[in-house]
Amino acid sequence: MAEPVDWRADGIPRSARFDDIYHTETGAPAQARHVFLAGCGLPGAWAGQPQWRILETGFGFGLNFLTTWQAWQADPQRPRLLHFVSIEAFPVSREDLLRAASSYPALLGLAEKLAAQWHGLLPGFHRLCLDEGRVLLTLCIGDVQAMLRAQRFEADTIFLDGFSPQRNPDMWSADTLKAVSRFARRGTHVATWTIARAVCDALAQNGFQVTKAPGLPPKRDCLQGVFEPAWQVRRRGPAPSPAALAGRCVVIGAGLAGGAVAASLARRGWEVEVLEAAARPAAGASGLPVGMLAPHVSPDDALLSRLTRAGIRATWQQLEQLLEEGLDWRASGVLERRSAGDDRLPDGWTAEGPNESWLAPSMHVAEAGLPPGTVALWHARGGWVRPSRLIEAWLALPGIRVRAGCRAARIKRIDGEVTRWAVRDAAGALLAEADRVVIAGGIESHALAPDLPLQAVRGQVEWGRIPPGSRLPITPINGDGHLIAHVPTAEGNLWLAGATFDRDSIDITPRSADTDFNRERLARLHPDAAAQLAGAFVRNETQAWAGVRCASGDRRPLVGPLSAESADGVWLCTALGSRGLSFAVLCAELLAAHWHHEPLPLPAKLAQALDARRAWPDTEKPQILASAR
Ligand code: SAM
Repeated sequence: MAEPVDWRADGIPRSARFDDIYHTETGAPAQARHVFLAGCGLPGAWAGQPQWRILETGFGFGLNFLTTWQAWQADPQRPRLLHFVSIEAFPVSREDLLRAASSYPALLGLAEKLAAQWHGLLPGFHRLCLDEGRVLLTLCIGDVQAMLRAQRFEADTIFLDGFSPQRNPDMWSADTLKAVSRFARRGTHVATWTIARAVCDALAQNGFQVTKAPGLPPKRDCLQGVFEPAWQVRRRGPAPSPAALAGRCVVIGAGLAGGAVAASLARRGWEVEVLEAAARPAAGASGLPVGMLAPHVSPDDALLSRLTRAGIRATWQQLEQLLEEGLDWRASGVLERRSAGDDRLPDGWTAEGPNESWLAPSMHVAEAGLPPGTVALWHARGGWVRPSRLIEAWLALPGIRVRAGCRAARIKRIDGEVTRWAVRDAAGALLAEADRVVIAGGIESHALAPDLPLQAVRGQVEWGRIPPGSRLPITPINGDGHLIAHVPTAEGNLWLAGATFDRDSIDITPRSADTDFNRERLARLHPDAAAQLAGAFVRNETQAWAGVRCASGDRRPLVGPLSAESADGVWLCTALGSRGLSFAVLCAELLAAHWHHEPLPLPAKLAQALDARRAWPDTEKPQILASAR
């Protein structure tokens, strides 16, 4: 349930929970510009920087964010990438978000773009991708201290917001301000509208030099500070390697993982060369005719459920931005058939949200042609995608060059003033040289990462043209196997059903035994569809496609350094298993966040669960990963 808002007669929003107004009568944008932006030396401070990272406590209606975004847009010297991380325990509804912005016509257009991504705000992190990925808003939904513990990055600017310290003490407590100070580097600016003694003292104790400045009337003062502690700052854990400067990067593999990494790096100014062993991109497991995009849902909202949810949000934004809905992908929603009696969901998940999966009403189940009484979940954020279209769109972005027919076999360090890396083929011929290399070659990554326990998982699907007059369901059906229908192609609409899971096989020749298996499973998943397609199978009008996915021992992707020796140069982004569409963008953004010391797109524990170092041989594994579950 969204946080209820009391709208006063003068249009100022008020919180009944905190018995306080959300912003001054002078107007939120004026306060944002005077207290927060100018208080931190913005926009001047970010001029000419490659990126800028802002941390805010208290997102509210996002008016500080919208004003910052507007200032960024208006500034010819703006950084290439703007990160804004904000913490909010009680998100308001989309309608209230828009209502607040409607008082400020100059912000309304931006607010509408924000509102379009204002959905699914369950507790946790949500990365909203705006302005074609140049403005990244990470909403951390939860209590301020827990969210500060879960996030990690070096902030350039900190906005401290919240209701008045008397009414909202948690937001301003000594513990909160100490946790905030962990995000500061020497020179980080902080600003807030309150000059409460306890706030000034806590900031000073934690290394900020604070000064009072003239406030925005009716307030007399506001507070500004800069992190300049008199002591040497020591952070817990090993010192991170310095943030990468965008240079040249070789990405090995032009599937979903490689395409997504190339796009994330190119957006940050890298010159990316993608080497693909096959004759064309999307030739491996990512080459299936059409794939299903649906989250994993479990009653305890397990790790995989939270990861796939974050992943699907990240993919969805790319689909909306780069592809044509209805042609290359469809935001159709997905029905997930469950076994009888299995209607368990996390507590409080109903069709009202903010969760985006719920128990499907029986009418919906019947419309999809499933037998009466079938238990099914409805995933509103689900659909089908033609993976090759997404890969093509990524690889066509500026800054990316693709070289097909280049099979990388060895990566060697070239020592010099700056370390570089040489990628060679099996005959020793130099394919490329770069500052960094990312191995994203699916199961073929094994040749370059022989110490890692990568497993091949062969999968076969059946597909064909939709027979005339067919009643195949419009909605993709997931469950034990899956069925997608009505995918438009130049040769007509197609359907697809599958897929098999066959460990340790790399033979992609279609097998008739697998076709029989997929048929039988389709008959259990959707008996009516199986009956409609029976004739096509008998007449051999169906086709089979097989590919080999790459999985890690625990079935989660591997994102991180290949080994301790190559930690500053050779990284992995692989083992997406059969969830490439769910994971590719999220993993690529996580890799980029690590390289550039950017805000994490996921809470630290979830990011750790994807860390490639968990797959290193035991002798090399750092202790820190022992707790990743
Ligand atoms: N910065 C906002 C804007 O630009 O619209 C206004 C922020 S409003 C004054 C303060 C926000 O802090 C509210 O939305 C409130 O729900 C949130 N908040 C209060 N206590 C919190 C807590 N303990 N953890 C996280 N958020 C909290």
